[in-house]
Order: sequence, then structure tokens, then C-alpha cells
Amino acid sequence: MKIAILSRNQSLYSTRRIIEAAEQRGHDVEIVDYLKCQVIVEKGKPIIYYHKKRLEDIDAIVPRIGASRTFFGSAVVRQFELMGVFSTVSSQAIVRSRDKLRSLQILAQEHIGLPKTAFASGPEDVASIIRHLGGTPIIIKLLEGTQGKGVVLAESVSAAKSALDAFYGLRVNIMIQEYIQEAKGSDLRAFIVNGVVVGSMMRTSAEGEFRSNLHMGGTGNPVKLSAEEKKMAVNAAKALGLKIAGVDLLRSNRGPLVMEVNSSPGLEGIEKASGKDIAGKIIQFIEDQRTRKLKGDKVGH
Ligand code: ADP
Ligand code: MG
Repeated sequence: MKIAILSRNQSLYSTRRIIEAAEQRGHDVEIVDYLKCQVIVEKGKPIIYYHKKRLEDIDAIVPRIGASRTFFGSAVVRQFELMGVFSTVSSQAIVRSRDKLRSLQILAQEHIGLPKTAFASGPEDVASIIRHLGGTPIIIKLLEGTQGKGVVLAESVSAAKSALDAFYGLRVNIMIQEYIQEAKGSDLRAFIVNGVVVGSMMRTSAEGEFRSNLHMGGTGNPVKLSAEEKKMAVNAAKALGLKIAGVDLLRSNRGPLVMEVNSSPGLEGIEKASGKDIAGKIIQFIEDQRTRKLKGDKVGH
């Protein structure tokens, strides 16, 4: 098969591992920097040019779209979809999962447990929002944030009020969330491929830090997820239409809660912590999809 990886940088661990796994399984791999694609939209004739060459005969794409490039990146993925190319993540699911509020609303509708979350467009009556969330401490999150940047812990009402005033003054979009103290600075990452948890890790924050992101100095360790945690992670990915996802859970007093669902989860932390060949699972998923399609075509004839 010819598999294109939409990635801006082929030296990144995740990109390298997917290339390696695809080549090991005998596939041709092309790295496509999606920001360098020229997309031609015309009636019934979707085309992409890359380095002056028309992209053709690609069987599947693995999008690795950076969080700050969602708009253009998802449009390129959509174009591949129009060309009939299989994508490991649909353009629609990328857009949906990058909108943190929308994702949480969808998960809530599916009866998936979440930290209680609120949003309002301005700082009017911040005190009552804090009351709705059960009081301080609270977490304030920039909707655009990733890698732990833009996540603030406010331990007192006065700290919360001043932080909220500052954010609202800057006119950025935020959400306000109940702080799950009993998770003790740790969270769980479940890596889902095609409805199955293929790897998991527990991330624990560094001393003096509440954010467990590896980018914030957190450490990843192997962990065994409970049946309830696995089921919840699988359901969360499904609710957002993601066949491949990194689902982050917090262990709370009222059971597991989904904190975030990532549509372009990194492979380095999870492969190293779990010892699993996650890149291989991704390629296997593409192969299975292809087999199903071919079988379907035969039945159709
Ligand atoms: P990002 O998208 O930047 O990774 P997250 O929502 O994942 O933002 O938050 C970053 C980290 O902050 C999490 O991995 C977790 O350790 C901590 N955190 C976030 N929300 C909560 C919460 N409601 N309760 C406890 N810890 C949280
Ligand atoms: Mg996170």
C-alpha cells in the first residue's frame, strides 16, 4: 500500500515510528508536509499538488496535524477524503476534538463522567460560577492550549477571580473546571486504536507541579487500567468519532473521569512507558480497513 503521513517534521518520534512500522510491513511511505500542499477545489475533481507533483495513488493517510494548524490541516485531510483516500482520522473528527468545549459537551451527552465544567463569555458573577463548581480550588483552561500550557490552578476565590479577570481582559476563550484533587497530580492515558485500548500509562507530575504533561516534566509509567477505565476510554473515543485517540482520565472519588481526548496523540511517551508497538497497531488498523474495503468491493460486484 502507499501510505502518506501528513506531518511537518519527519524527525519527530511519532512520525519516525509510523514510517518505520509501515516500511517494516512492506508499505511505501510518503511524508507530506500539509502546509506545503496546494489544494485545487473544482467540480467533481479534487486534486492536491505537492512540490509541483500531483498526489495520486495514495491508499491511506495518517494525519499528524499540529494543534495550531487545525484549520488548514483539516482542510487538506478533507481533500484527501474527497479523493477517496482512507484517513486514520476524519477531518470532521479532528475539528470536533480540537474544540475542547464541544468535545466535553458531546461526552456529557453520552453520559461519560467528566470533571464538572463551566463556561461564560465574561467575568460577570464569577463567584456564582465557582459556587456551581463546588468552590475552589478550580482549574482554568485556555481553550486553545496544549501540552499543559494555558492550564491554571486557582486555589482560592480571590486567586480565581483575578486569574479570570486577566483571561477575560485578554479576550481569550476559557473554561472553568472542578479540580480533581484526589488524582494527586496524576492522570491516565489510554491509547485507542479501532475501539481497543492498545497501550496505557500513568503520568505523574513533577514535584511542585499539578500538571502531569510530559512536556511539563511529568513522567510516564506503565499502569493497568480497570475494566471501567478501559470501557470509558473506548466510549469517549467512539463518541467523538475517533478510531485512533489518546484519552486522558483522572481517577476521582466518584470513579474515572475523562479529562481530554486527543486526536493526534504522541507515540513516544506511550510506547516507552507501555513497551507496546503502537505504531505497528496503527499500520495494522490501516491494513484491516483495506481488507474490509476490498471484501466489500467484491460483494458489490
Ligand atoms: P492540555 O491540553 O494542555 O494537556 P489538559 O486539560 O490535559 O490540558 O490539562 C493539563 C494537565 O493538568 C492534565 O494532564 C492534568 O494533570 C492537569 N489537570 C487538568 N485538568 C484537571 C482537573 N480538572 N483536575 C485535576 N487536574 C487537572
Ligand atoms: Mg492534556
